[in-house]
Amino acid sequence: MAAATFNTEAVVLASTAVGEEDGIITFLTPGRGLLRAAASSARNLKKGRAAPLDLFVRTNLTVRTPVKEGKLKRVVSTTMIDPFLGIRSDYRRLCAASYVGQTVAHCIQEDDPAEATWDLVLYCLRKLDSGAAPYGVMLLFEVKLLRQMGILPELKSCQKCGVEAGGEVFLDPGRGGIFHRRCTSMEYRGVLTAGDLAILGYLAKCDLDAVSRLSVREEDAMRIFRILHPFSVHHLGYEAKALGMLER
Ligand SMILES: [Zn+2]
Repeated sequence: MAAATFNTEAVVLASTAVGEEDGIITFLTPGRGLLRAAASSARNLKKGRAAPLDLFVRTNLTVRTPVKEGKLKRVVSTTMIDPFLGIRSDYRRLCAASYVGQTVAHCIQEDDPAEATWDLVLYCLRKLDSGAAPYGVMLLFEVKLLRQMGILPELKSCQKCGVEAGGEVFLDPGRGGIFHRRCTSMEYRGVLTAGDLAILGYLAKCDLDAVSRLSVREEDAMRIFRILHPFSVHHLGYEAKALGMLER
């Protein structure tokens, strides 16, 4: 049986060099989820310019599926769509993009259509490419991803007394929701205000093209992200290394 090929759009999430000539690239695709494929001469020869298989580059691929089971797919040809060079011009934005890429590579499987996650990742890369501050993008990403996976915490009412949370509340990573100060004896790192809960609620529900209607200060995005993040680490069972690089 002859090997079959298919075409797909993709974004490079990770690459591992194998010997001098080859690399194994992890892509995110619309419709096929994560895609791992071998590619030759993945390294860029022209300095300062992106190659189609560089990190975060958006590209069209032709991929050959192996005849033998257990063998890797192979990238046959590439056509770059967008190099997102703006991401690489700033260390903090690069860290934020890496955070998005590493987390998605952990959460999405091969052959998982994950169309909404593709749209989300592309949106985040575009924002970072155009100079958006890292925590605003990472907060949006985290909220939307948790929602897409069906594990966004309950943010409306207290998990102990059931009363709607109007004022300052704590988010408990392990117990999956928010608690009034008076309803928990645990110690938490930060409180969520009514304004924070409104921001989280908006980000969870809005379409991506309506995100920019909400303006969140970067310092608030960072504070809220740091409260939400332990929840996602707890439920995803994963902590992207890139976050440590950003917070260092
Ligand atoms: Zn309560």
